[in-house]
Amino acid sequence: MKGPFRSEWLEHYLSEKAPGVFLCSNDGETILEIGRSDDDLKEMIKKTCTRPRGLDSLYAYFWFQYTQTPKEAFYLHCQLWHKYKRNNSTAEHPQPPLGFEDLTCPIKDCEWNRERRGLKEEKEF
Ligand SMILES: [Zn+2]
Repeated sequence: MKGPFRSEWLEHYLSEKAPGVFLCSNDGETILEIGRSDDDLKEMIKKTCTRPRGLDSLYAYFWFQYTQTPKEAFYLHCQLWHKYKRNNSTAEHPQPPLGFEDLTCPIKDCEWNRERRGLKEEKEF
């Protein structure tokens, strides 16, 4: 991950329209938000970190990482979610991108994987 960067400098650091993941923070240390975009990371960070008029920010800092594909972004999102979710315990487990619904979380012993497997098996019977 690259950062932390001040969120008012977002335009300066993100130029590509590509998938990726990001983290937001107010003190540059504690992670308050974990997010991903499957097609336009910059717009997603903008929506999450800043207010529409740009007068003040919801989050002062962000980190980001572009990825080549939405699939890669999903895997990274999962890893970040498992690492930092304690600070953000109400957030739900990342969902796979559209068209990749069969992807599973790369973290061993992930509850979410187990639940989904359970649902699938139920459907098959
Ligand atoms: Zn997981």
